Amino acid sequence: MPTHRASGTVASIGYASGPLYFLERGSGPYVASGNPATEAERLTAAITRASAAVAELMAVAEPESAAILEFQIAMLEDDSLAEPAFAAVVRGIDAATAWSAALAEHIAEYESADDSYFRARSADLTDIRDSVLRALSGIKSGRAPAGAVLYGNDITPTQFLAMDWQRGGGIVLKQGSSASHVAMLARSRGVPMLVGVGPIEAANDDLVLLDAEHGRIIVLPDTEAQREFLKASTAHHQLLNLARSQVRRSATTSDGEHVDVFVNIAEPVDVDTIDIATCDGVGLMRTEFLFTRGLPDEETQYRAYRKVLEWAAGKPVTIRTVDAGGDKPVRGYTIDEANPFLGLRGIRLSLSRPDVFRVQVRALLRAAVHGELKVMFPMISLAAEYRAAEVIFREEAVALADAAIPHRMPPLGIMVEVPAVAIDPAPFRDVAFFSIGSNDLTQYVMAAGRDSGAVNTLGDVRHAAVISLIRSVARFGEVNAIPVSLCGDAGGDPAVIPLLIGAGLRALSVAPAQLPLAKAAIARTGTRDSSDAAR
Ligand code: PEP
Ligand code: MG
Repeated sequence: MPTHRASGTVASIGYASGPLYFLERGSGPYVASGNPATEAERLTAAITRASAAVAELMAVAEPESAAILEFQIAMLEDDSLAEPAFAAVVRGIDAATAWSAALAEHIAEYESADDSYFRARSADLTDIRDSVLRALSGIKSGRAPAGAVLYGNDITPTQFLAMDWQRGGGIVLKQGSSASHVAMLARSRGVPMLVGVGPIEAANDDLVLLDAEHGRIIVLPDTEAQREFLKASTAHHQLLNLARSQVRRSATTSDGEHVDVFVNIAEPVDVDTIDIATCDGVGLMRTEFLFTRGLPDEETQYRAYRKVLEWAAGKPVTIRTVDAGGDKPVRGYTIDEANPFLGLRGIRLSLSRPDVFRVQVRALLRAAVHGELKVMFPMISLAAEYRAAEVIFREEAVALADAAIPHRMPPLGIMVEVPAVAIDPAPFRDVAFFSIGSNDLTQYVMAAGRDSGAVNTLGDVRHAAVISLIRSVARFGEVNAIPVSLCGDAGGDPAVIPLLIGAGLRALSVAPAQLPLAKAAIARTGTRDSSDAAR
């Protein structure tokens, strides 16, 4: 077969070459005993074995992987998941068929969910289904060879975690989403990954070249294709190595202007692997993680915020009040809506549930004495929302003072991610700072859901309409002495950074793994480089 190419969306930047490995979900034949009691025993044992295998992986997993595996163990230990399977076994169905059918229902439910959070969880359920089926048929996990480029409809978190990525390799998915758990893991481990590639004409073990910088995969490359690939991947690796060696330097444009580069974090443990000297502080701490297992109490939140503030050693830490809703549902807190991205999310939800909001506010006020805390509100549309949130901060500060509990009032700012605010920021002249949420701003300006692979190309932050809004917010901030930064994913994208600098931004907050290349991109950019390139 001659050399051929396919293209897709980059979910994690990088290059890989190696044999193609078709991701198999198969489990091997299962020989039923014909006895319901034996089938039930086998199923119980298989669930226990699968759960132990996940626990084994968890023992050596990094924090963000551990959270995913913890979810799987919780599901495996949840009796209600297996109940229909055991009921079917009693009716004479064999364990493997009963288990597959029971899980199929759950998987279909998650896959057809409106929000990407639940859709992303369907890969975890598929993972659970397959590990129990493998345990039933006595098969160890089908592991891909080191250095392989994995290809399939989707990849499960344990398939990802079972690979030794130190030895190369990458991921190419027919479908998939860059918001999935695995995409998040791939970015944090630097594993190249493409999604939305569709079917490719190739066989297991075919040599492939994965260019997850330009979004290409080349199957059975000829000499010319190999030469081109080598040139591009060498340039990328040289740049990455150089950027890593310089990551402790502060970021400066090619004409000498300083740009603050902060990090985005999700959990306090994230800071354990970040050297504070490599960044100017935390530009966005998402607090949703605290709410994944229900509503957290004040003490839990206080400890989480305090840990990050102490780590930052005097550098600013911007913590965002919980942005639940949209693609981040929280059981018992968010409501079911047909269109959750346009519904009760972020500050709207916090203000509708002051009982929950006040707990977070108190934890933040108390943590503020441990560092340079700034607090911002997500999904602000109206000045009245900002003011209502501010009043709650002031009331809780008074209550803490009355109780002689140490606390401090932090500067309060807003996310600029609703177009109404970006178009007319004048009512927000008295807020302490703006942080542009380019992920949401882009989806709302372009009317293209950030979780939809089908409109992926529409939701492009580089569109002239989005860049022009960013420019006008930056200008408004400059004129009114309001610091403006940007904390959406665009801030860490080397291809977008020149446009953001050109639009007047001098503060970006990026994923920790993106720090080196983001700083290198800033160093290559001049402040007068035009943003006219915006499409
Ligand atoms: C954004 O919308 O750009 C942002 C930073 O917030 P999130 O991605 O958490 O919605
Ligand atoms: Mg947002």
